[in-house]
Amino acid sequence: MDYSENFSADPVDIAPVLIVGAGPAGYTAAIYVARAGLQPVLFTGAQIGGQLTQTTEVENFPGFPDPILGGDLVERMRVQAEKLGTRLIFERILDIQNNPPSVQPQTKETPLTAPFLCLGEKTVCPARAVILATGAIAKGLNVPGEAEFHGYGVSSCATCDGFFYRNKTVAIVGGGNTAAIDALFLPHHARKVFFIHRCDSLRAEKTLQERLFKNEKIEFMWDSVVEEICGETNPRKVTHILLKNVKTEKKTTLSVDGLFVAIGHSPQTDFLKDKVERDKEGYIIRAPFSTKTSVPGIFAAGDVADPTYKQAITAASLGCMAALDAQHFLEESL
Ligand SMILES: Cc1cc2nc3c(=O)[nH]c(=O)nc-3n(C[C@H](O)[C@H](O)[C@H](O)COP(=O)(O)OP(=O)(O)OC[C@H]3O[C@@H](n4cnc5c(N)ncnc54)[C@H](O)[C@@H]3O)c2cc1C
Repeated sequence: MDYSENFSADPVDIAPVLIVGAGPAGYTAAIYVARAGLQPVLFTGAQIGGQLTQTTEVENFPGFPDPILGGDLVERMRVQAEKLGTRLIFERILDIQNNPPSVQPQTKETPLTAPFLCLGEKTVCPARAVILATGAIAKGLNVPGEAEFHGYGVSSCATCDGFFYRNKTVAIVGGGNTAAIDALFLPHHARKVFFIHRCDSLRAEKTLQERLFKNEKIEFMWDSVVEEICGETNPRKVTHILLKNVKTEKKTTLSVDGLFVAIGHSPQTDFLKDKVERDKEGYIIRAPFSTKTSVPGIFAAGDVADPTYKQAITAASLGCMAALDAQHFLEESL
């Protein structure tokens, strides 16, 4: 997309640092960038506050000895970022142009001041550095009951929600490393863990498989898929799930208090196309111990660049690192 031909929106002033995403990573980056005096511009996308707005109580974010609602936690981050001078723009970024010649002729007389042009839904914003913090969305099963009981027995994060199932019975769906690691974590709290997999063997690493098979609290439901998640509405809670054996077509009911869906995440990177290097699942590749991407001046933070940990605190940490990396980049390019 060429800015000069296709966009009629008013360009805003050059942002020293433009941040894409309004979750813990984006807000933390904004707080650090703002405190460095670099007037960040932050594009929120559609989900202001990010994934934490989908959950109820958060008990593992340091500094909150009593549980805090996920939405309240990110709202505090937003207030702090804005108070320090972050400009929020409530739009999605559709494209990022690197070094657009029509806007930024680079000659000896006019040195390049804004090598990136970020195209929002209505607003165009040139930027000297960009931090990508667009998160990753957990893939769902798309079965009846999943949306209704999400946050009330259905979860995509064992590390976050496993604690709530002390001495209860849960099930986990998946077959890869994430499902295996989550399934090994759940018996620390749950009395019983059903591991549901649609095939008769797992993709997870062999060492993980060995640990799973040795764990007496874990029972495998091979060749099985979840067809429906059922429960009560007052109070809203999961009571059982309906399974189908894909080989025999036999249907069974499994009584559970919770269902963990661990079938992978979709990093929100489609809008980047091939602008920065991504791995085969779409996660942005960072340089080791850094938030630098394959494009100098573009940094990545949070779940979008973290296939492993995916926690609010790790997203915030990477947001802090990205802000400092962007600050150093700007100092070096003066
Ligand atoms: C149900 C649930 C419960 C959880 N519970 C916990 C918990 O208890 N403790 C914990 O530590 N973690 C928890 N997590 C994980 C935690 O929410 C994430 O690790 C964290 O939110 C990741 O932060 P992020 O900033 O990287 O991305 P996100 O929070 O996903 O934010 C991404 C942001 O990017 C924006 N965006 C996306 N595309 C664009 C675009 N093109 N242009 C502009 N903006 C865009 C979105 O609108 C959003 O604002 C939970 C997650 C879920 C889903």
